[in-house]
Amino acid sequence: MERLIYMTKTDCLFCRIIQGEIPSQKVYEDQLVYAFHDIHPQAPTHILIIPKKHIATNLDITETDKDVIGYMFLVANKLAKQEKIDSSGFRAVMNCNRDAGQAVYHIHLHLLGGRKMSWPPG
Ligand code: AMP
Ligand code: ZN
Repeated sequence: MERLIYMTKTDCLFCRIIQGEIPSQKVYEDQLVYAFHDIHPQAPTHILIIPKKHIATNLDITETDKDVIGYMFLVANKLAKQEKIDSSGFRAVMNCNRDAGQAVYHIHLHLLGGRKMSWPPG
């Protein structure tokens, strides 16, 4: 089985975005989370919501992270309303590991909306 390489904070793209070392289009920030526009949007609204704590994959979520994970969904709801995609509908998804297409190993909740989406996902 393929062995995953877990990046440390210093070489993590999203940790560097949080630190401001790499530019991003910030949508929202507080003590726990950071949200910014995806660089390759897959829908009219495509925002990434990330915890400030470095967590590599869904599988690395621990008991102590429970609150922040729930909070990411509350922030997604707030931003969906702000973007006016709440009543039309949106998707809030996290990809885990290779088959799901995870490309950045710092967990991120994709908030997608503004167009009709199909199911099942490709
Ligand atoms: P995933 O495939 O679930 O790991 O999603 C990673 C997402 O990060 C993709 O949708 C990318 O377009 C996005 N992304 C990669 N680099 C950046 C960046 N520098 N700024 C904003 N979004 C990025
Ligand atoms: Zn990170």
